[in-house]
Amino acid sequence: MRTRVLAGNWKMNFGPAEALAYFTELEKQLNARAPSAPPSQVAACRVIFPPAYALGPEIQKAAARAHVKLGAQNLHWEEKGAFTGELSGATLKSIGIEWVLIAHSERRQFFGETDETAAKRLSRALTLKLSVIYCVGETLAEREAGLTEAVLARQLDAFLSVLRGKLPAGPAILSLAYEPVWAIGTGKTATPDQAQQAHAFLRKKTAVSLGADDAGRLPLLYGGSVTAENAAALLAKSDIDGVLVGGASLKPDQFARILET
Ligand code: PEP
Repeated sequence: MRTRVLAGNWKMNFGPAEALAYFTELEKQLNARAPSAPPSQVAACRVIFPPAYALGPEIQKAAARAHVKLGAQNLHWEEKGAFTGELSGATLKSIGIEWVLIAHSERRQFFGETDETAAKRLSRALTLKLSVIYCVGETLAEREAGLTEAVLARQLDAFLSVLRGKLPAGPAILSLAYEPVWAIGTGKTATPDQAQQAHAFLRKKTAVSLGADDAGRLPLLYGGSVTAENAAALLAKSDIDGVLVGGASLKPDQFARILET
């Protein structure tokens, strides 16, 4: 059994007021679909990653009414210090944030994130027992050059190097998101078969390092132009355990439909 993770990444969109309005609307949309579903029936982990200024307690409470947790889009590998623009994992935890996103391709593309820095962030998150979505994925040029598996293998090695042969125990959830860069924000979703092929590769390679049982427990999410229309077909694949949604997570009606899936 693998945990399902349904997540939304707002990137640099929405401030606190818009976030509050969003969760009020999301709750309304979900209640209209499944009136008074108790939290015990919400089987999947549901997480939204807003910008850091929308992680406060009032917004956490509004999100909780829709059975959604909030997560941070980044964390630094040190606890505190002279790291302008970075976020401390320990401080995130102290304000009630349990999830972090690591190595998103936009961090890799625009902000110099490398496999090495991403692995250091992961190590800190695991020490703090935070739940994690760690992203990997190839660019279009890499795919067209036949390098998809080589790129995924290199990125996965950085992720696995932190685990030292074992999936961490405990209630925190460690997950991996396959996000082909060519599918992010482009409207060009990977087909369910393309995504399944990459996920099966990630699972097989993970099993070599962690063993079949731990690899079988690692939730693998797909991200890249997921919508309410294509989510079900992706999630029907045997190695796709969740989705990481960008653009469509900004619309409460779309995201409610994805959660319903
Ligand atoms: C993302 O930001 O991780 C993402 C997958 O974006 P989109 O759904 O807009 O492609």
